[in-house]
Amino acid sequence: MNALIWTFAALAAVLAAAGCRWQFWRPVKKGFLSLMYHHIGVTDKKDGQFPFTIPPQQFEMQLEMLKKHGFTFIGLRELKAAAEQQKPLPQRPVLLTFDDGYADHFDALFPLLKKHGAKALIFLITDSVGKPGYLTWEQIRQMKQSDLVDFGSHTHTHARLRKLSNEDALKELTLSKRLIEENLQTPCEAFCYPFGSGGFDKRIRPLVFQAGYLFDFSTKPGVNPWPWNSAKTLLRAFPRGGETPTDFYIQITRGKSKF
Ligand SMILES: [Zn+2]
Repeated sequence: MNALIWTFAALAAVLAAAGCRWQFWRPVKKGFLSLMYHHIGVTDKKDGQFPFTIPPQQFEMQLEMLKKHGFTFIGLRELKAAAEQQKPLPQRPVLLTFDDGYADHFDALFPLLKKHGAKALIFLITDSVGKPGYLTWEQIRQMKQSDLVDFGSHTHTHARLRKLSNEDALKELTLSKRLIEENLQTPCEAFCYPFGSGGFDKRIRPLVFQAGYLFDFSTKPGVNPWPWNSAKTLLRAFPRGGETPTDFYIQITRGKSKF
């Protein structure tokens, strides 16, 4: 009898430990899913960019998994139409977002988007465009013309807005917006905070809307309740380099796989 109790206790401890690490026990969340990516490429575990780098094969597997589970890739246009109540979102909407505008977004990501008919939203650091390792305006225009990729702002210099005065923060917000609009001849309506939750606060958020953006994305993980309550920033689940398909499944159904 004692042995049985010990077995149950051990089993409960293992489940509790796994439950602390993975969020499989949370209910599946309905709403609008957005995923946050950075690099599509290969790097090793010692590299600080490892969690932010998804190998192309892993990313392709994730696209296939999203399709298999009935997700529909949406772009900024569909998000805007749904937010303005012109057209509802599809059943399981997912918006893929990519921060920083790296050169691999053209070399590695773009071919996969075309192959799978997937859409994406890339947040540009406008001062970095054309610098080594980053997209050029020519590549950005080419991606835009495919109708698969939209572009938003990630400030002009990847600034930690919270550290800036209102005036300087507004400069970062408006200059990047203007440069994207001039180069793409299309409104720039989405913004993503550098340094995630540490990069903004209650003072900064209204400035984003004052600058003319309609959507602000943070690094807070989760699935967005829909209709979106614009009192809060948009949440994004964060698939990391080296994650397993199980992790990814938990990400896309719960918005977060681990604590
Ligand atoms: Zn960034």
